[in-house]
Amino acid sequence: MKSHFLPTPVLGLSKVAFLSIFIGAILGSCSNHEGEVAHPIAIADMGDKAGMAALKADVEQLTSDEYEGRETGKPGAYKAGEWLARRMEALGLQAAGDSGFFQSFRYKPHPPMQVHGDTSKTMGMAVVREIVGRNVLGATASLVDTTVRWGVIGCHHDHLGWGDENSLWRGVAEGDSAMHPGADDNASGVAVLLELASRHSVASLTGHPLLMASFSGEEKGLWGSNHFTNEPTVGLQQVAWMINFDMVGRLRGDTLAVYGNGTSPVWNEILDSCNARKGAGFELVLSESGVGPSDHTSFYLEDVPVLHFFTGQHEDYHKPTDTADKLNYQGMLRIADFAECIVGELELQEEIPFTKTKDSSSDDAPRFKVTLGVVPDYLFSGSGMRIDGVSEGRPAQLAGLQKGDVVVRIGELEVADMMGYMEGLSMFEEGEQTEVEVLRKGASIVVEVTWD
Ligand SMILES: [Zn+2]
Repeated sequence: MKSHFLPTPVLGLSKVAFLSIFIGAILGSCSNHEGEVAHPIAIADMGDKAGMAALKADVEQLTSDEYEGRETGKPGAYKAGEWLARRMEALGLQAAGDSGFFQSFRYKPHPPMQVHGDTSKTMGMAVVREIVGRNVLGATASLVDTTVRWGVIGCHHDHLGWGDENSLWRGVAEGDSAMHPGADDNASGVAVLLELASRHSVASLTGHPLLMASFSGEEKGLWGSNHFTNEPTVGLQQVAWMINFDMVGRLRGDTLAVYGNGTSPVWNEILDSCNARKGAGFELVLSESGVGPSDHTSFYLEDVPVLHFFTGQHEDYHKPTDTADKLNYQGMLRIADFAECIVGELELQEEIPFTKTKDSSSDDAPRFKVTLGVVPDYLFSGSGMRIDGVSEGRPAQLAGLQKGDVVVRIGELEVADMMGYMEGLSMFEEGEQTEVEVLRKGASIVVEVTWD
């Protein structure tokens, strides 16, 4: 996921409830195998076990040392892309890029781009180099027929390499680096996409063709999906919907966040009906907005109905500790089952109308509805957002904040830089109260801000 500004869903860690649903599902699915009742778990487990083993193997492959954290433009991301294309091909998908399974894009980051509080690493105009990344695209049908309706299942396979500017790890000493394996973010999404691709190879998921799209450059700023929607290999007019999996490996209890349900009137009914099925039963945390910190945003901005699945924030987010052993593979399988049902329901819809959600506007600027009433110090190179001045009578001043304070947290969110600060603002509504933590001469001060 691109940045750290999503609200943490309230997660009730109920292992007992989870286990009972799991066992219930197993027993339920076995009740029609007469004569096998004596070993119910062993039988129902087989399909689950195979699915979970595949999910785990894919995550372990993507997070292996060989791919070095998959930073876009680096050899590790290139090799991961090669592996992913081979995997898609083996699952029976057809090449759907502009060069086999690949679609390359070039991107020149906009300076200045600061690297963790070290001004010597600030990239000036002169040293900004073009970065080349590759999307990996596979389809369940030939791209030749451009008249049919397509569905897009998406994820991103890039991550932060040895810790790029989006890392939240501060190391032990200045200048430390460590590989960021990105298991939840987003090997988990890739694995779920491949699981759905494998089901297609066994039995068609839908009569309409599906594009399985794994983007790169997501962490850098949705570069790959942006490039795809600008130069689609499948006509965008034919894309009826897009479902994005980004960070789906940490299901806790039954809580699953599904964002974008306001982007089409069909979503709520489909989500409800699939959630009522055996084995689902999620406690859904819904958010209508089609704009979020991941690749579905690129499609939403082209008027495509979208959904984004997300199992929630955690302390290992964008750190070297986001490792494969911490994922809930059973949960990922459950999400894949849920998604398969949704894809099937979409098939039954004659039309999937697009609706704009209220927080979107036609421009591409960061969208936020509230301000703090401060002048940010754009040249501050430390961690956080330093206030260079406060406006009279505005939220910051009313809460007692002063020039020189460094904002390090807004609500639940760590604020690492300007971008994080601006994105953080997009979460709040006018009139809401939020805890804001600042550092003043090194000491932590927490104030209650009322947004206006
Ligand atoms: Zn991320």
